[in-house]
Amino acid sequence: MSNKTRIIIFLVSIAMYVGAFMSMDMTFHKGQPTVWILPVLAAGWLFGLWPAVIVGLASLPVNALMLTMVGADWHVQLLGGGAIAGAPATVIIGAVVGRLRDVSMRLNKTITEKILVEEELRDEIERRKKIEGALLENEEKYRTLSITDPLTGLYNRRHFFERANAELDRAARYETPVSLFIYDVDLFKKLNDTYGHLAGDLALKVIAAASEKVVRKIDILARYGGEEFVCMLPETDLPEALMAAERVRHEIEASPLEYQGKSIKITASFGVGALSQLGPQEAPAQDILQLIIRHADDALYQAKASGRNRVCISQPS
Ligand code: GH3
Ligand code: MG
Ligand code: MG
Repeated sequence: MSNKTRIIIFLVSIAMYVGAFMSMDMTFHKGQPTVWILPVLAAGWLFGLWPAVIVGLASLPVNALMLTMVGADWHVQLLGGGAIAGAPATVIIGAVVGRLRDVSMRLNKTITEKILVEEELRDEIERRKKIEGALLENEEKYRTLSITDPLTGLYNRRHFFERANAELDRAARYETPVSLFIYDVDLFKKLNDTYGHLAGDLALKVIAAASEKVVRKIDILARYGGEEFVCMLPETDLPEALMAAERVRHEIEASPLEYQGKSIKITASFGVGALSQLGPQEAPAQDILQLIIRHADDALYQAKASGRNRVCISQPS
C-alpha cells in the first residue's frame, strides 16, 4: 500500500470520528469520544505500534477540543465519556493492533527477503551451470582439436601413439593379439604436380573418408604424416589384419577423386605388422609399437617395390 493511500485512509478515519462526534446528542450520549478508536485502529493498522500509541494518547486533547467546539459540557463529557476512561483502553487496543501489524510486516519482509535470496541463488546456480556447460563444451572442443588432424578429421599422429601404446599394454595384460597397417598414397607427388596441391589435399580427404567407411569402430585410424596413414586393429591377428587392409585398399581404389570434372583414380600401398610377429617380448609398449611399425614399414616398402596398390606382410628376415 502506498504512503498516499495510507494517509487518505487515516484522514477518512478522522473524518468518520468527527462525523460521528457531530451527529451525536451531546447530552445523552457520552460515548462519543470513544469513536476516536477509529483513527487509533487506522494508525495501528496503517503505521504500526508507536503511531497508534501516539494517536491513542492524542484522544485527550482532541476529544477535549471537539467537545469545546461542539459546545457541550466538556467536563461532563470528559469524566463520563471515553476520553479518560477510554484513552488507556484505546491506547492498548491501538498498541496491540500496531504491534500485530509490525510483526506481520517484519515477517512479510523476512519472507520476501528469503524469496529474493532464493531467487538470486537459483539465478546464480543457473548462471554457473551455463558457464560450466560452456567450459565443458570448450574443453571438449579443444580436446577434439588436439587429437584431430585438421585436414582429414582423422586422429593425428600424437593421439595415435597414445592410443596405440594403451592398446599394446592391454594386449600384453590380456594376452590378446593386436596388429596394424600403414599405408602410403601411390605416386602422390605426381597427383600434386599434375592437378595442384589443392587436389592433393582433397585426395587425402577422400582417402580418409573411404578408410573410415570400412574400418571397425574399435580400430584406431590416424593420419601418420604427409600422405601416410596408419590403423591399429585391436584383438586382431595377422590374417584378419591383412583382410582389413585389403578392404581399405579396395575402398580407396573404388573412390576416385572427382576434381574439376575429372575422375582421378587414387591407390595406396599397405604394409601390415602384428604383435604375433615379434615373439615373446618384455619391452615397454612404446618399444614394442616401434618394432611392429618397423615390420609394417618393411612390408610397405615391399608393396611399393613390387608394383604399388597392394597389401604386403613383412617376410621374416
Ligand atoms: P610413392 O608411390 O613412392 O609413395 O610416391 P609418392 O609420389 O607418393 O611419394 P613421394 O614421397 O615422392 O611424395 C609424397 C608427396 O606427398 C610429396 C608431398 O608434397 C606430398 N604431400 C605430403 N603431404 C601433403 C599434404 O598434406 N597435401 C598435399 N597436397 N600433398 C602432400
Ligand atoms: Mg610417403
Ligand atoms: Mg606416396
